[in-house]
Amino acid sequence: AKFKSYLTTPRFAPFFSPEKGFLIAYFSAEFGLTDCLPLYSGGLGVLAGDHLKSASDLNLPIVGVGLLYQHGYFHQRLAADGRQEEIYPENDFYHMPLRLEKDANGNPILIDVDFKGEKAYAQIWRVDIGRVRLYLLDANIPQNPPHIQAVTFRLYDADRETRLCQEILLGIGRVRALYRLGINPTVFHMNEGHSAFAGLERIRILRQQTGISFDAAHLAVMASNVFTTHTSVPAGIDIFDPALIETYFANYAPELGISMPVLLGLGRKNPSDHHEPFCMNILAMKLSGHINAVSKLHTTVSQKLWHVLWPSVPQEDVPIKYVTNGVHVPSWVSKDMAQLYDRYLGPYWYEDPDNEKVWSRVMEIPDEELWGTHERRRERLVVFCRRRLQKQLIQRGAPHSEIMKVNQILNPEALTLVWARRIATYKRPTLIFRDPDRLAKILNDPTRPVQIIMAGKAHPADEPAKELIKQIITFAHDERFRYRFVFIEDYDLEVARYLVEGADVWLNTPRKPNEACGTSGMKAIVNGALHVSTDDGWWAEAYRPELGWRIGFGDEYDNPEHQDEVESNYLYNLLEHEIVPLFYDRGPDGLPKAWIQKMKMSMRYLCPQFNAHRMLEEYVKDFYLPAFRYWQKLDSNGFKGAQELAAWK
Ligand SMILES: *Cc1c(COP(=O)(O)O)cnc(C)c1O
Repeated sequence: AKFKSYLTTPRFAPFFSPEKGFLIAYFSAEFGLTDCLPLYSGGLGVLAGDHLKSASDLNLPIVGVGLLYQHGYFHQRLAADGRQEEIYPENDFYHMPLRLEKDANGNPILIDVDFKGEKAYAQIWRVDIGRVRLYLLDANIPQNPPHIQAVTFRLYDADRETRLCQEILLGIGRVRALYRLGINPTVFHMNEGHSAFAGLERIRILRQQTGISFDAAHLAVMASNVFTTHTSVPAGIDIFDPALIETYFANYAPELGISMPVLLGLGRKNPSDHHEPFCMNILAMKLSGHINAVSKLHTTVSQKLWHVLWPSVPQEDVPIKYVTNGVHVPSWVSKDMAQLYDRYLGPYWYEDPDNEKVWSRVMEIPDEELWGTHERRRERLVVFCRRRLQKQLIQRGAPHSEIMKVNQILNPEALTLVWARRIATYKRPTLIFRDPDRLAKILNDPTRPVQIIMAGKAHPADEPAKELIKQIITFAHDERFRYRFVFIEDYDLEVARYLVEGADVWLNTPRKPNEACGTSGMKAIVNGALHVSTDDGWWAEAYRPELGWRIGFGDEYDNPEHQDEVESNYLYNLLEHEIVPLFYDRGPDGLPKAWIQKMKMSMRYLCPQFNAHRMLEEYVKDFYLPAFRYWQKLDSNGFKGAQELAAWK
């Protein structure tokens, strides 16, 4: 009944006036929505899921499009020596909350794209996310030969040719699917570069419909394309061998009305350099009139990284703005904490979580209630970890005696630090282990015990990250850390939920300025955790001494060894002199008054800002609506506006 009323009676007045024709298509390679839909690998997918959930709450006219992966992303198992094994279980679409889109005769609706002269088909599944629809393409169907069926098997396939086929489906296939379903979006949002071919397909269709020139169609499409970049690290950028593009786009370029060198040039810094690889992020930027990074700091980093595309303007004028990421609060807050919010913030806080006045009422929650709720969640986390550890040991064939010892691991009352995210070298999961003796002393203090829980997957092709996991597992076996440190395998939405709900301290240690934004800390804060991070990503704009802690001085270093030395020492000092004493400074009632005060301040000031509702409102105001207005201008009178603009240019 509650859900029906949510669908039919939006409690929340739209923050913009709905207009005819205003419809956003949201493109992402992955969507992290719920445990039973494993269509994500990590932060990017969870962000896309939260984007659609908040869009539903806010009544935004948006439609999501993605791929349906037969095996999704891998499950992580660790061998006794910490070696990561990747397991790809098969998804059973018929037992997932999906429905197949069918035509009037009951046949699945198919779209097709061209792979080197061969037709590739895909059917379309639909997921309902509250009021928003998400459509997913699936190529694993009898109409395709096996090598084409395999294109939608795995998220981010490591084979470059398969990956290109995936991105042709992600771009061209998904635009075709939308039109085939009779959906006509006016604003196209590409979340990361994987979907950049969508811009080309829009140009092709526009030319076919109107007969206007490539240049005019390019301008019209560009005016209504929004592109979000998530990478700061050049190695994370999606590139293809130009020869591969040539074979796959030989038939396509003439349909666009351009030659192959011009098409290749759209994916290059220097279009006349025939050796330069074809870059999807550059293609996306050359096809988008609205570009954004995902935090304030990330804008500066992106402007520097892409200045080469706008060489005639100063770096700070490179047209990349920012919308700092946020999280969908109702999805990430624990049930216990949500009940507390219901009682003290009033009803509907979850539909209006960017309201500062609502969050200021956090200060009125009685200390003992807030602390009691938080302690209950920490206890649940400890129980969850023991259960998972036991399962891990049984799977590994560990001796019974070792399995029985699991109940001595972790302490439900100890100060609990959590580090959980994708394992990557720049994120420095082992920073806290840099001086093992000093750390052991902190963890094993008999009256003020501290414990660390860690989780994260390494990308299957990321060997240095896999090495880090091995090191971490060595520490987990070290006698000094045995009962105070655990690594939980197979980090996913479920594990993430337990961790963010039960952590006292959410630890983040990226090497500045590599973290584009980061969102897991925001999930922890809505549950009352305190954030401790280097001055990177969203924390660079959020940190204030009364809300959490900053590791280091916010400097960037040329020597990584030196940086690790400085910042790990800083972290140990913080733990020894500030964090641990504050947590264990208990009054006669057993409550850590000053700690609770800090929790409240952090929730009060950070929750209303770092959530997905605020993020969506900024996208609408700064990107979606302006893109829609541009489109209207260029589209009038048979695209006369676009033609005039192209002629003037
Ligand atoms: C939130 C989340 C992430 C992203 O965490 P970051 O701090 O942004 O790196 C990754 N994986 C899962 C399962 C998550 O829930």
